[in-house]
This record gives sequence, C-alpha cells and structure tokens, in this order.
Amino acid sequence: MPEASDALDMLRRADSIKTSNHVEFLSLLKQLDARAASLPADQRSYLRYLDAWQVAYEGSYEGAGLQLNAIIREVTDPVLRFRATATLINILGIGHRYEEAFTHLSHLIDDLPNISDKRARFQGLGEASQMLISAGQYDLAVNYAEQMLENIPPGDTACKATSYKLHAQFRRGGMQTLDKAFQEGVELCVNTGETLFANAIRADIASFEIQHGQTAHAIALLQNNYASVKRDQYPSLISQFEALLAQAFWQVDEPVQSRNFALAAIDSSIKGEYTEPLSIAYDLLYRIENQQGNYRAALAYHEKYLAADKGYLNNVSAEALAYQVVKQQVQASKLQFDTLNKQNQILHLEQALDRKAVENSRLYIILLLTVLAFIALWIYRLKRSQLRFMWLSRLDSLTGICNRKHFLEEAEHALHHAQKSGQKAALIIIDLDHFKLVNDTYGHAVGDQVLRRAVAACQPHLRPRDIFGRLGGEEFGVLLHDCGADQALARAELIRAAIAATPLIDEESDVVISASLGVATTLRCGYEVRDLLINADHALYRAKSDGRNRVVSVRMDDGAGRFTHEAAQRAGAGG
Ligand code: GH3
Ligand code: MG
Ligand code: MG
Repeated sequence: MPEASDALDMLRRADSIKTSNHVEFLSLLKQLDARAASLPADQRSYLRYLDAWQVAYEGSYEGAGLQLNAIIREVTDPVLRFRATATLINILGIGHRYEEAFTHLSHLIDDLPNISDKRARFQGLGEASQMLISAGQYDLAVNYAEQMLENIPPGDTACKATSYKLHAQFRRGGMQTLDKAFQEGVELCVNTGETLFANAIRADIASFEIQHGQTAHAIALLQNNYASVKRDQYPSLISQFEALLAQAFWQVDEPVQSRNFALAAIDSSIKGEYTEPLSIAYDLLYRIENQQGNYRAALAYHEKYLAADKGYLNNVSAEALAYQVVKQQVQASKLQFDTLNKQNQILHLEQALDRKAVENSRLYIILLLTVLAFIALWIYRLKRSQLRFMWLSRLDSLTGICNRKHFLEEAEHALHHAQKSGQKAALIIIDLDHFKLVNDTYGHAVGDQVLRRAVAACQPHLRPRDIFGRLGGEEFGVLLHDCGADQALARAELIRAAIAATPLIDEESDVVISASLGVATTLRCGYEVRDLLINADHALYRAKSDGRNRVVSVRMDDGAGRFTHEAAQRAGAGG
C-alpha cells in the first residue's frame, strides 16, 4: 500500500494538472478514489474537492453543486472551503444561478485577504475575473486577471491569468487590430502545456478574424487545433470551436462544412443550456436550409434559433442584472455595516463619556474633600491661634511666666485642690531689691533684661506642679505645691541665693542684684489666696526692713496677729 505522503504528492500533482493534462488528472483521480478509505482525513477532504471539481468539469452541475456545498459545510480547512466556494461560483454561473453566484463571489472577495494559500487565492481571483467577464464588467475582470498574474502559485504559470485577461479585453471590444499579446498568450500556454487555455485564446483570435474578414486564417487556426480541443473534453470550448468553424465556412461559402460544424456545435453543447455557440449554430442552419430552399427545415431551425438566442441573451442580461443586484445588496449591507459601526462608535463614545462623568464626579468628591480638608485645617489653625492667644493672654509678655491674673486663678485652683486633698502649700513673694536704682543707673532696657534673668534664676528651683507668676513690676509669686513651712523656707532660700548669684549684666560685671522674699504657708494662713498674699507680703515687708536680700516667713509668734484678709482691710482702714 502506498504511503500517505505519496498520496499527498498524487493529490497535489492531480490538482496542478487538472486542465493542462486532464487525461493524467483522471487517471490519478481514479487511483486515489480507489484508496480513499485509507487516506488521512485532510487528504480525504482534498480528494473530495478534486472529485467535485471533476464532476463540475464534465458538466454535471447539479451533482457537483451538492458535493461542493457539502465540502463547504463539513470541511474545517478554510483553504479547501474557499476553493470549493470558488468552484461552486463557477458552476452556479454556468447554471444561470447568477444571484447566488455573485453573492458567493462577494463573500469570496471579502475572504481573499484572509487566505494566504497562493493556489486558493489564485483560484478565487480567477473565479472573480471569469464571473465579471460574464457580467460584462470587463475592466474589473482585467483587474482581477492582473492580480492573478501577481499571485501565481508555485508550479503554476501565467497562462490561465493571461487567457482571462485577453478574453476580457476581447469581449470589451473596440480593438481595430489584433493585439500581439494574443499570439504571445497562445505561445505562453502552448509552452507550458496548457492547451485548453491556448485554445481559448485561439477561439478569441478566430472570432476576431471572422469579424474582420480574415476568415481563411481563422479556419486554419481552428482546424489545426480542433483535435486538441476535443482531447481536452471541455464541452463549452468544443462547441465554441465548432460554432466558429461553422460561421467561418458559411462566410467562405462552404455550406456543407458549415452545416456539419453547426450540427456538431449543437451536439457538443450541454443539453438544455442556451449558449452563444448554440444560438450561432441554429442561426446558420436556418440560413443554410433557407438558401437550399428547405423552407420547412429552415423554419424549424429559425424557431430553435430564436429560442436559443432569446435564452442566451436572457442569460447575459440576467447575469449582468444579477451582478448589479448583488453589488447593490453588498453596498447596502456595507452601508448597514458602516451604520452599525457608526452606532458602535457612538456607543463607545457614550461609554467614554460615562467614564468621564464618573471620573468627573470622582474629581468633584476629591475637590469637596480637599475643600473640607482646607476648612478643617483652617478651623484647626484658627482654633490653635485662638488657643495660642488665649495662652498668650495668660502669660507675662516680658518674662513668659504667668501674668498676675492667671497666677491668681491657677493658685486659687491649686489651693482649692490642696485643701480638698488635705495637702499643705506655701506662697512666696519675691521682690527685687532697689530695682528702681537699676533702671535709673542702666536704663529701662537693662532693667527688663534683669527681670528676665531673675526669672531664669528662679526656675531651676521650681517643680513642674509649682505655679510661678509675675505679680507686677519687679515682684513675683510662687505657689509651692505639697510643701510644709520648713521646705518652703528652704526653697525660698535657694531662690534668693540663685538671684543673688545672678550677675546684673554679664559674667564680668561684679554688680549683683538681690531679692527679698516673704513666705506664707497654708498651715498658718489658710487656703485663701488673698490671705496668703497678704501674709507673704507682710513677711516681705519685714525682709525689706530687716535689710533686704533675705527670706522671712510668717512667724509662729505672729499668732493672733497673723494677717487675714479681714485684718488687712481693718489695718488699711485704720492706717
Ligand atoms: P525696694 O528695694 O524697696 O523694693 O526698692 P525698689 O526700687 O525695688 O522699689 P520701688 O517700688 O521703689 O521701685 C520699683 C521699680 O521697678 C519702679 C519701676 O520703675 C520699676 N519697674 C516696674 N516695672 C518695670 C518693668 O517692667 N521694667 C523695668 N525696667 N522697670 C520696672
Ligand atoms: Mg516692688
Ligand atoms: Mg523692689
């Protein structure tokens, strides 16, 4: 049994010689058909296609149509489907099913860019060219034939494409002399062994010559190649040759020959088909019988001629009409497609707009949040500056410690708390000695600096919960938290020493400043701020009068004489 690759070679060989060596093609097809069952699926599909092609070639269009449609439906290979469509178009055209043919053709042409297989492309372009010739679209047909010439598959030649191109040019008409391209086309096809196409071109040459009074040459050309045409077994070309010979012999006044070829043309043409050769043949037979005086026979041929000619012309116009109808349909569907495309674009645009709207609303939200954040920040800063102002309003601007008002408030609060929790506390009043003299001697600015230095000297001897404030001028108050009399005295002494150790202006200067301090404790004076202040002030007064730079506490022996708010008022009222 032959190998599968050998079968593939046979398939390819058969494919490439379908028309150029039809006899060998048939023999190969027979061999392949015999072993079809043992072929792989793809090769079986390929064989199915070649079988269908042969059925179409021999003129069994209905059977071929069924086979080709089955291939289009069932085969997965797009190239084979494309080729089956091309062949189907061919037989639909022959069967005058022009609208179907052109509809398929329109799809085929749309499909062309997706088909890279050169043979399939070539076949598709060929079908387009042939169909357009039938539809009378000769310029388009020439165009497709030229595309074929640019897409010749390997192993194939320029012959077929050249023959289509020349046929389209011949049909277009208007040629005064025969272009030498026709003779070159014949030679090309003869050289490549493609006699069918060589003969098709010869038929056009002969037809031209018959129309232009070169009948003898036409007869020679046709007769010389008649045998070869018959060998190729292509019915429509055989009947075309015979009809042309009949015409030529009629022109040269050889009615017997003309009659024989006319009858042959009728015999060769496919039964039931109205073709040009059939019409020509009946017309000639009518004339011949008429000339011979066989009027009855002449009349019969004339009737057949009229039917054939009408049928043929109907086919021609139907084909042209179908082409136009399909063209309109294709344009309409393209228009619809364009409209759909436009609608799609609009949809996309709308979606894009929707996305933009979402983006925009996101932006609005971000903007809103930013504004809110700014407002929050602004409120925070406002609050902070308010708090700062509030804080600043509680501080003495020169020294940075509590001002009098705030000191009294804080002291009152702390004393209240201490009283409730049973803790002792003490109040110290510090007054700088001879401060007026500092101002007078060094100026007010230096006096300010001395005030700040005195405060700085006190601070290391205070605990975090002690309250320190400027009561006014060069007078300061300290409320010592959780502090007994001895501790208070000791702390006051530390403060006094610290101030006394502070240089007046700078380290080098030996001028020093001192302070006198009066101390009052809750133990002796109670938890009222004013009582403590009065008593501390009284002690301070004593410190001044005792010589300054010293600490004086409200003495135990002050006894009943200790100052209270009421007593001070009384003393003030009395003094
Ligand atoms: P004593 O020892 O008796 O306390 O004498 P003194 O000079 O310190 O007392 P006096 O009350 O007579 O003088 C206080 C001076 O403090 C008067 C005033 O010019 C000065 N003074 C008050 N407040 C400030 C201030 O903020 N800066 C400056 N440089 N001097 C101030
Ligand atoms: Mg004073
Ligand atoms: Mg003073």
